[in-house]
Order: sequence, then structure tokens, then C-alpha cells
Amino acid sequence: MSSRFLTRLRLAWESTRPVDPETTATLRERWQALPEHVRTPAQALGQHAVGCEGTHGVFPRCNLACTPCYHSRDANRVRVDGGHTVTQVRAQLRLLRERRGPHAHAQLIGGEVSLLPPDDHAAALLAMREQGREPMSMSHGDFDASYLTALALDAHGEPRLPRVSFAGHFDMLMFGRRGIERPADERSLNPYRRRFVDMFADLRREHGVPYFLAHNMTVTPRNLNQIADVIRDCHDYGFGLFSFQPAAFVGDDRRWHEGYRDSTDDDVWAQIEAGAGTRLPFRALQVGDERCNRTTYGFYVGERYFPILDDEKPADLHTRDVFFRHLGGVNFAGTALPTLAVKLARVIARHPSVAVVFTAWTVRMARTVGLRRLLRYRRIRPVTFVMHSFMDAADVTPAWEALQRGETSAQPRVLAAQQRLQACSYAMAHPETGELVPACVQHSVLDPGENVALRQFLPLLPTVRSHREG
Ligand code: SF4
Repeated sequence: MSSRFLTRLRLAWESTRPVDPETTATLRERWQALPEHVRTPAQALGQHAVGCEGTHGVFPRCNLACTPCYHSRDANRVRVDGGHTVTQVRAQLRLLRERRGPHAHAQLIGGEVSLLPPDDHAAALLAMREQGREPMSMSHGDFDASYLTALALDAHGEPRLPRVSFAGHFDMLMFGRRGIERPADERSLNPYRRRFVDMFADLRREHGVPYFLAHNMTVTPRNLNQIADVIRDCHDYGFGLFSFQPAAFVGDDRRWHEGYRDSTDDDVWAQIEAGAGTRLPFRALQVGDERCNRTTYGFYVGERYFPILDDEKPADLHTRDVFFRHLGGVNFAGTALPTLAVKLARVIARHPSVAVVFTAWTVRMARTVGLRRLLRYRRIRPVTFVMHSFMDAADVTPAWEALQRGETSAQPRVLAAQQRLQACSYAMAHPETGELVPACVQHSVLDPGENVALRQFLPLLPTVRSHREG
């Protein structure tokens, strides 16, 4: 056998290795850094993922007004500058790559992402991909199809991004959307939700660009009772994830208008369950601290939703354990299908029980859904439900200060915030200090000073043009 052939064989063997050794080391480190109270069998951090990542200080300005708004009062006095954004995104993501390993999901988040010129937006997404990140752009969704096309295609009309992922933020607490400046209720936004999704469907049909869409919604006592209808009305629009954020007292205090803590996380989750039409088990898979995140993975067949794991069924919990043990480090999202198939085959060759456990799970799921339903609809639509509960700045600030001093607070609220920050699943990077901080700390503690400095560095120009105005 020639040495060239042997080299190729070795490279093929390495590229189909189920888990990259660096991923194994990063996951182990992540697990060891987690506080004891979240090191449970259900914990995804350190067993499957390192957590989510987000950018900060890159384009803080927004052209809609939300109540509440998590951005500090100076955010809208900072000019959107594509060059600054790309430079900062590259530096922040490089640090995240260094500290959190080769693969993660990351959000390109500011302000409003569509205020960036499309070329700069694309350059920022590509800079994130260069660091092994699967990027998602966070937007209010009030932009035109021409912007999306300009973002996704290069000067020759060819796709320049392997996939576009957006989280569209739609709720009645946002003011200034074109055509519906002050929404009367959630349902009146449905045509705008539909229009947003349709732009991506058109892009895929006309140019072959794949997409993933999430729907984000802030929840206050004003729209709490409308959550269920949003899900019932929009579950088949094309969103792959519905994320709900109970409002917190953080950011610009001029935009705090309600008693956000009058409703609890349980109230919000009950409404999500009412919309999904079924109990949503969130204890089979946990991301960080349960007080921060609840997640249910599942799928629709027709109008019915089926969670993939039931936290009250031992067989499902065993399936989860086997997944974490043998497949936890496999990079599913960022691997081409043929390579992924070989990786899985190698896992099964070493651990045949994996195939047995997952076959049994498939049979159980098929029985739960029912053959008649499967034959009737012939289509499974994966949809994930998430609730992410940010904390109030009044709790985060003393908790972070105590953590910096190496102290544990005796005050129950501050102690709870400390525990949650230590188990945080959503990190932001500071290349200037080499530090990663929880997003709660970024918004509660660091954003105000950062935006004052950015306001000096990137003052508003006399005329600010945005793509929406074009
Ligand atoms: S950003 Fe805040 S609410 Fe979110 S996971 Fe981190 S600590 Fe919890």
C-alpha cells in the first residue's frame, strides 16, 4: 500500500471519529466547572453541549421600541458600523472558540441585526462560522425580502452562507413595526409572523438556501394569556423553535411598565403547554439551571405535539442516559450527513446496545403517535419549546459582585442569583480581559458602561440611513 493511500485512510478515519478529542476535553472541563446542584443526569451542559453564546457591543441600536427593553438607555445613541461589528464579532468569537471548544451555537445579537448592511451582516456570520459556530441572527423581523436576498447571496447571485438562521422577535410589547405601530393584541401580529417565514421559504425555493427559524416572545402579565393562541395559530408556519422570555427588570428602566413578577415561570409554562395541547416534560433534558431554562424537544404530526422524551418514563430516561454516554459528544448540527452516518455506524459497532435502545425508543414513539396518524399526515415537524427567564438587575448586580470577591451571599435572592450565574448557559466574551460572562451580567452590569463608551467611539452620524428606509 502506498503511503499516500495510508495517509488518506488515516485522514478518513480521523474525520469520521465520532467525537473530536478537543470536544471531549472541553465537555469534561465544562462539566467540572458546573456547580454541584446542576450536575444531574439530565444536564446537557458538559454532557452534550457547552451552552449558547452571544455577541455584545457590536450594534446596540434598534429601530423598534420594546417594553421592556434589555438594552441600556445609551444603546440607541451608538452608530451602527459594519466594520466595528465584524472586527468585534471576530475577536469575541475567537475567544469563545479558544475557551469553549470547536463547536457551539452562537447568536449574532445587538440591537437590531438588519440595521447592518447586508454585506457586513454576512461577513459577521462567516466570521462566526470560521470559529466553528452555528450562527443565528436575532431580529425583530421587520425587514424586506430584498434585505434577506442581499444577505444570503453574493454579487453573482450565488448563496454565500450554507444556511441562514434567524430568531424573529414578535410580540405586542414592541412598538414601531411597519404597518402595525402599536399592536392591539398578539393575534394581530400573525400576518407579520407569516410574512417573515414566507420570505425564507421563498429564498429557499428560489435560491436553494436552507434556513432555520425561531420565534421569540417576551411575556408580561399583559400578553401571558395569549401565549397559547400564538402557539395554536402559528405552530405550522415554519418556526422550528418557540422561545418565551418572561420579562425581567433589566436594561432601560424608562421602559418598565408592568409588574413583571406578578406572573411566575409556572404560569408561563402552563400557557405554553395549553398551546401545545399536552404536558411538556422539561426535566428529561436540562440546560444549566432549571430556574433559567426549560426546554422540551418534540415534533408535530398534524395538529398534535409529541415530546421526544417523557421525564416520567424510566425507559425514556434510560434512552437519554445512553445518548449522553455514547453520543453526547457527537456534533450533529455541524456534520455533513454522510460523515455523520459513518460516525454513528462507528459508535454502534463499538456499542451495539445503542442501536437496541434507540430502536426501542423509535418503536415506542411510533406507538404513541399511532400508525394511522403517521400514514394520514406523513410528515413530522420538529418543534422545540423553550422558556428562558432572565434575572432582575437588582439581583444580578450584587450576586456578580459577591462572586468577583469569592463570597457566597447570605441573602436568599442573591444566593439564588449566584447559583444561576455559576450554572449559566448563555455566555458573552470579553477579548480585552479574556473573560466570559453570563448574558445576565452583560445586560445588568456591563452594558451601561459599554454603551457610554461606544457612544463616544461611534457617535450617531447627522443622517442615519437604514435598510428599512431604502
Ligand atoms: S443569562 Fe441569566 S438567565 Fe440566562 S442562563 Fe445565564 S444566568 Fe440564567
